[in-house]
Amino acid sequence: MHCPFCNHPESKVTDSRNSTDQNMIKRRRECLSCGKRFTTFETIELNAQVRKRNGTFQDFSLEKLRSGIAACCRHTRISNDEVRTLASEIASEVQHRGLREVSTTQIGEMVMERLKKLDSVAYIRFACVYKRFKDMDELMDAIQTASTC
Ligand SMILES: [Zn+2]
Repeated sequence: MHCPFCNHPESKVTDSRNSTDQNMIKRRRECLSCGKRFTTFETIELNAQVRKRNGTFQDFSLEKLRSGIAACCRHTRISNDEVRTLASEIASEVQHRGLREVSTTQIGEMVMERLKKLDSVAYIRFACVYKRFKDMDELMDAIQTASTC
């Protein structure tokens, strides 16, 4: 993503949020050369398939991932915006790695890795549910209904 002002190739993301279209991410960027700020809209190509433990596939769902993480972050100091950013980052990572398929285990690990840095309560809650179910689908269903583990 080149800076529209000086054409420098590198910028840092200062803020990310999903627009009303859930597969679209709006990012505020700051040029690492001239320091000017600009906004980009990135579409997440959700052509990745999630491989479940039983060998079946389903479409990668940013919304499902987001709500699953949000359930673990309830009553922690992680804000909804941070949850949204986290889910978007994971979707971006899947996209940037060029993965056509991603396993539930990989997604779970990506979530844990990030939660660990953000909040220990959310991390433990997620890790506990994740380890118990070993399946992202069951996990997502479970953490949406149970707030404790
Ligand atoms: Zn610039």
